[in-house]
Amino acid sequence: MSLETQNFETQAVRTQTEKTQFLEHSTPMYLTSGFVFEDSEEMRAAFAEEKQRDLYSRYSNPNTNEFVTKMCRLEGAEDGFAFATGMAAVYSTFAALLDAGDHIVSCRSVFGATHALFTKYFPKWNIETSYFPVNDVDSVENLIQPNTKIIYAESPTNPGVDVLDLERLGAIAKKHNILLVIDNCFATPYLQNPIKFGADLVIHSATKLIDGQGRVLGGVTVGRKELIREIYLFSRITGPAMSPFNAWVLSKSLETLAVRADRHCENALKLAEFLESHPKVNWVKYPFLPSHPQYEIAKKQMKSGGNIVAFEVKGGVQGGKTFFDSIEMCSLSANLGDTRTIVTHPASTTHSKLADEDKQVVGITNGMVRCSVGLEHIDDIIEDIEQALLEI
Ligand SMILES: *Cc1c(COP(=O)(O)O)cnc(C)c1O
Repeated sequence: MSLETQNFETQAVRTQTEKTQFLEHSTPMYLTSGFVFEDSEEMRAAFAEEKQRDLYSRYSNPNTNEFVTKMCRLEGAEDGFAFATGMAAVYSTFAALLDAGDHIVSCRSVFGATHALFTKYFPKWNIETSYFPVNDVDSVENLIQPNTKIIYAESPTNPGVDVLDLERLGAIAKKHNILLVIDNCFATPYLQNPIKFGADLVIHSATKLIDGQGRVLGGVTVGRKELIREIYLFSRITGPAMSPFNAWVLSKSLETLAVRADRHCENALKLAEFLESHPKVNWVKYPFLPSHPQYEIAKKQMKSGGNIVAFEVKGGVQGGKTFFDSIEMCSLSANLGDTRTIVTHPASTTHSKLADEDKQVVGITNGMVRCSVGLEHIDDIIEDIEQALLEI
């Protein structure tokens, strides 16, 4: 059986890059900052990159190599680099590829810290960002300038779970010869492979569904070899590398991603269907509900709808607060993609300082709740959410 024809689950379980002295069945952890050499010639060849081998764990390590190799196979990518966090992956990818004065075209709705990079930090280097709305991918063409270097998007988006047409974005990027970078965190490589649709680079916060158990932070960028080379050279100098311990945990986590994701998605769809008929709920958004505005696109590019369900409870901010305070089992937390179901109410917490019109721009309404559906029994998840809805 050739490696290339193996299915996703097999690749996730069977990709092992190290053969060790003791032939451990499970890859051991290589907690070492550096590696030794036989003689000056070996060391010279390694530093001159004539010989592929580990030198120092800021550059590479057997555990991060295994994690990155797995991620590349699962995303259909040529090469990759692993980072300490998802934000280190996002920042380093931009910083390695952009020059002062370059321009980004980004989806309006992106992860909060990514948005802060665009608005607070990149302008320091005269890097400006123009935004397109989630429901109008075609408008990207009108925003492109001669200095546009990167088109950036997430799909599904956070927290609105909108879906962007990746094939269309890929075609626009190709036509204008601009890089397409996709944050694929919400979908994971199991549900969606943006490279198939024309993405040059794919970024993940491995902290979310890739770990899937709320334990460690991590990030990874995978994609075209020559771009990863630039990202690698930047990162080996600036030092955002993933720790070997986290790489070991995350490589193990990938072995169970497919079975976890299947159950996450099954539970999320059942919760979305339950909420859709509930009298205390104004609307529900879930990519695999036929009522979702981009349902057809979601069906085309995703294997399943993911684990995030957005919905609006009746009663505005107060309704949302009452719902939130009445939750008994689910966790009130800001993380997502954990085994535990997590609910957040952006309007009274993370986004409470935004004016109503600014909330609208990022897709947040006052009664909106974001639920990261976990792996508890679906009947127990629904029971908790239902009793909280009845308190409103
Ligand atoms: C969480 C998240 C990030 C940042 O990842 P960290 O590991 O927390 O640094 C980036 N993008 C998306 C879509 C996320 O959900």
